[in-house]
Amino acid sequence: MNYKARLRHLVNALPDSKLDYLLITHLPNVLYLSGFTGSSAALLVGERNTLLFTDGRYRTQAREEVKNARVVIGSKAPALAAAEWLAGQRSRRRVLGIESESLSVGARDRLSAALRGKAKLRPAPALVERMRTVKDPEELSRIRAAVKLGASLFSIACKTIRPGVREVDVAAAMEFEARRNGADGMSFPTIIAAGPRSAVVHGRASRARIPSRGFVVCDFGVILAGYCSDRTRTVHVGKPSHEAREFYRAVLEAQQAAIAAVGPGVTTGEVDEAARSVLRKWKLAHWFTHSTGHGVGIEIHEAPRLAAGQGQTLEPGMVVTIEPGAYVRGKWGVRIEDVVLVTPSGYEVLAPMDKDLIVL
Ligand code: ZN
Ligand code: ZN
Repeated sequence: MNYKARLRHLVNALPDSKLDYLLITHLPNVLYLSGFTGSSAALLVGERNTLLFTDGRYRTQAREEVKNARVVIGSKAPALAAAEWLAGQRSRRRVLGIESESLSVGARDRLSAALRGKAKLRPAPALVERMRTVKDPEELSRIRAAVKLGASLFSIACKTIRPGVREVDVAAAMEFEARRNGADGMSFPTIIAAGPRSAVVHGRASRARIPSRGFVVCDFGVILAGYCSDRTRTVHVGKPSHEAREFYRAVLEAQQAAIAAVGPGVTTGEVDEAARSVLRKWKLAHWFTHSTGHGVGIEIHEAPRLAAGQGQTLEPGMVVTIEPGAYVRGKWGVRIEDVVLVTPSGYEVLAPMDKDLIVL
């Protein structure tokens, strides 16, 4: 990963935001800029200095992983150590940008006290999150590998899903296979939601048994080499009714319309509308209760957000999910999700496969 280029890009953006320094406390951003994978760190980025503050547990790891920042080991909270370092510098009063989305009110007060008036705190714009939306070739190859491994778990789900089997047993079989094949872990708790539970949008696998007839929503992803995958497939156990087939067809049509809308220059709101308008045609739009998708990378949910009215423009190199769904409470739900790369000429679905309704 080209951490040097990322840091240079960020430093160049600081003057436009009227910042002398930026204190990175959101760990995925620390990882993105420095390569540090530890769970306690703050990265202080300025024109002349970049310092990574962490604690003694990470002495060896930090020195191994971090090449483009000075590593400072301390015993205090890393962000506080950074503030004290800054307060100790002999210079004019500085403006220190903070990531307000990842800093508690209490932490902000402690930071402010540690600065002893030597720097002024200012909430910074989401500079790193914005950089992270466009993936570089190395990130893309990791995402491709993660999506491929994630996709392979669906065959395990199909082998395991049977009437009477508990949802957790399906999830466990998938997660076991993921770890055996090199996943660092799952990118979120696996969702296996069967029968009426398929209408629960975030139906984490429970001890409920799969009924003899009905939809099963499977939403799952792995973390491989630090990058996430995300995929949803909905299968039907037992013979589906005509109504169930039509319901599935509507969601699939919505997903295909949204995928076809993806391309550079298109806004995220337009992609969302492509899915929503299909479901409107099927008179199912009021059952589509979430957004159409999200960026995916180091984090399972990252920018951009593909939701109604969002105006962010898609660019080549962005990686987003397309995942419309429809959920009728107490009855059933269907969601279909793929990870899609924005290319210079349009889009590419990662690890594509046939999405006709699978009956088990
Ligand atoms: Zn998902
Ligand atoms: Zn998703």
